Amino acid sequence: MPGTFDVLPPESRRWEALLATFARLVASAGYGLLITPTFEELSVFQRVGESTDVVRKEMYDFVDKGDRHIALRPEVTASAVRAFVQHHPTTPWKVWYAGSNFRYEKPQAGRYREFHQVGIEAFGSADPDLDVEVVALGWEYYAALGLQQVELLVNSLGDGVCRPPYRALLLQFLAERRDQLCLEHRARLEDNPLRALDCKKPECRKATADAPRQIDHLCEPCSLHLARTRAGLDALGIPYRIETGLVRGLDYYTRTTFEYAGLALDSAQNALGGGGRYDGLVGEMGGPDTPGIGFALGLERILLALDAEGVETGAALPALDAFVVDFAGGDAARDLTATLRAAGLRADRAFDGRSPKSQFKSADRSGAAMALVVGPDEAAAGAVAIKDLREGAPQVTVPRADVVDEVRRRVGR
Ligand code: AMP
Repeated sequence: MPGTFDVLPPESRRWEALLATFARLVASAGYGLLITPTFEELSVFQRVGESTDVVRKEMYDFVDKGDRHIALRPEVTASAVRAFVQHHPTTPWKVWYAGSNFRYEKPQAGRYREFHQVGIEAFGSADPDLDVEVVALGWEYYAALGLQQVELLVNSLGDGVCRPPYRALLLQFLAERRDQLCLEHRARLEDNPLRALDCKKPECRKATADAPRQIDHLCEPCSLHLARTRAGLDALGIPYRIETGLVRGLDYYTRTTFEYAGLALDSAQNALGGGGRYDGLVGEMGGPDTPGIGFALGLERILLALDAEGVETGAALPALDAFVVDFAGGDAARDLTATLRAAGLRADRAFDGRSPKSQFKSADRSGAAMALVVGPDEAAAGAVAIKDLREGAPQVTVPRADVVDEVRRRVGR
């Protein structure tokens, strides 16, 4: 299928590393795992962005056998808000997720129809220090993966008080220059004038160069919010650039919006991830007025950035400790792997009574630190020969009862 892909071992070790690193990081900041359905009623997504491409053009929607109008999720924030409204958990409610999203886009490098994100959402606090926490967690994630060429872009989109007058001002400015905009933004000006600001086409860039910016038209509370957020990022030593054209692709953002750009990537596809505040969204989706903020980070883009920066991931993940090679009937392979695994060691074996040569080949290929060899001599003596597969240390034979301790000693666990 165009725009989709399989991930097989050993390539999937990189994905394991991405997920494990994220889970560890956000758990350390008090976020709990949220799992929501991959599909929702279409209206869940329609409410979050009727004027956006994601909702208007790219949604995988269909009518199911029960005549419900369903959509595969194009993003997770809407589902998280739906879950928050449905279950009314106590706040602050801090959750993380990992999973697939679906958008009917033109497939190309870094752009797929089924793609994967990790993300967090935090509900119930309007404190700008929460903005700092959220932005910092994304930043730390990229750093933990070894990415160095990441730029953090920050903007404020104002709120229900200062956005409407700013929007009117911007619309007036752009309407006077409508014929200088790209065709798409000419047609959609009234729907969402802000989108013209982050259009990448040269004609829009030129026409909007002197356009009024929200950041210069913030009300006092929004202005203070931004100042405190910036002070927090400074205090944590996180570098960022204010990007007044950053409006993001979804309608619901208020105040802080941010994006992480991968500077090693081609600029058309360099958004590694992004997010922002959505203080009005829970209310709009039928819940009690509750502020929220979150981000979503694309895993495919992260892998591209890791490749572009030449960073190895996944290598740090634990490989097998031992591979049992048994050519004395198979009982040792069966029993020894079970014993090793029960002791918390990572062990594998061959099946089908293969030849010693073929079993050694599998052992080498498995990446295990050592082979535990049981031939007829070892079986008769109740012993196991240990063959180092990495450093080439001399082979030793130990009594069967000492194998677990010896493997532990060698792998340092
Ligand atoms: P968004 O939900 O549009 O804010 O996107 C958040 C992140 O998800 C982006 O920065 C990308 O890294 C990633 N992303 C969005 N759309 C796609 C796609 N079609 N294919 C791959 N990654 C995507």
